[in-house]
Amino acid sequence: MKIAVIGTGYVGLVSGVCFSDFGHEVICVDKDPAKVAMLERGEVPIYEPGLDTLMTKNVEAGRLSFTGDLAHAVAGAEAIFIAVGTPTRRGDGHADLTYVMAAAEEIAQSLTSYAVIVTKSTVPVGTNRLVKQTIRKANPSAEFDVASNPEFLREGAAIDDFMRPDRVVIGVQNDRAGEVMNEIYRPLSLRDFPVVVTDLESAEMIKYAANAFLATKITFINEIAALCEKVGADIKEVSKGMGMDGRIGNKFLHAGPGYGGSCFPKDTKALARMGQDNAVPMQITETVIKVNDEIKRRMIDKVVDLCDGSLNGKVIAVLGVTFKPNTDDMRDAPSLTIVPALVGGGAKVRVCDPQGQHEGEALLPGVQWVEDPYKAAQKADVLVILTEWNEFRALDLKRIARKMTT
Ligand code: NAD
Repeated sequence: MKIAVIGTGYVGLVSGVCFSDFGHEVICVDKDPAKVAMLERGEVPIYEPGLDTLMTKNVEAGRLSFTGDLAHAVAGAEAIFIAVGTPTRRGDGHADLTYVMAAAEEIAQSLTSYAVIVTKSTVPVGTNRLVKQTIRKANPSAEFDVASNPEFLREGAAIDDFMRPDRVVIGVQNDRAGEVMNEIYRPLSLRDFPVVVTDLESAEMIKYAANAFLATKITFINEIAALCEKVGADIKEVSKGMGMDGRIGNKFLHAGPGYGGSCFPKDTKALARMGQDNAVPMQITETVIKVNDEIKRRMIDKVVDLCDGSLNGKVIAVLGVTFKPNTDDMRDAPSLTIVPALVGGGAKVRVCDPQGQHEGEALLPGVQWVEDPYKAAQKADVLVILTEWNEFRALDLKRIARKMTT
């Protein structure tokens, strides 16, 4: 099947590469010429384990190509995936649909034959209908259907998540679109990965409900961790004991400095906004957003306490600044709240992250970047671990302790 993917970010590029690996003929489009140039040279603009090898394999097999020309990609495609960003709109918490709608308008102008226009971006309930209206208005004679196909991959494990998903969710309005979608995902349904086919609105809602639930689980365990510290319980033991309950499960029960990233912060805000707009306040999600902000600030307070109330002149080593391990993504990372507060308090901050420096340099001014965690720890008063990279799990803590001042 001929597929066009609009947007070559974390979701668009991984989806395009994996669809081509399924055997489909895929063209990925991006409006950023620098990204397209890199991809055409065979370079991957993001850090995602395994993506470069799979991309090269499919380019060499002639099933995968890249372009900046949307009209060229869309012409003759049977399915067109919109995988552009939906960040938080300034001021009101809504998902910003500017990029999705701009892509829909462009697609409308370029349709040459029947196609299913699939929204893979995370979008509020009702957006697929809006995409349909936009295309219909821009090109009244176009033959098309819309479909919702939210993506659940996790950065850092994106290929495995795409190739071995817990489920694929597809929202459609008729059988014709459903057949195209089933054909695309046949390599997965043949291997018994579940495919949930539902209506547009339910598909859109599944994504928000899932992300808000996961953000809630993380926030819950972070709040329990704070109480554990006060009452002398060990949060790792508590998580273990809780997670063994099959009704709870052990995933997303690891206490840390708050959730961040390209999805949870903006998706919880967008769900809260959807609730307000529909007079059904999402009270749990609204509280999760508030508590998560407090958890990030609590990390700052902990460091200040360890420095006897003043950060001035203290040396602080920070291990990990990306929002999670195995990615270079810094979007809404807790480090972006915590590190500037340490620098602002007068501390000398040394930062070490296996992949974060390229993205992080502009976002974290005033810090010193070091490649080696032991160098970061040299004469440090405090060492803060913000990202659970495996590299940091294997550190020789006795050696670290010898290097530190306190
Ligand atoms: P991203 O910002 O990494 O990538 C978006 C890309 O789209 C950019 O390269 C941009 O240049 C391109 N683009 C924007 N408008 C375009 C246009 N009109 N034509 C061509 N290219 C265009 O975004 P992302 O992290 O891949 O997220 C995309 C969507 O997927 C979001 O809605 C997000 O919520 C959702 N999502 C993301 C993840 C994740 O882990 N990153 C997981 C699941 C779902």
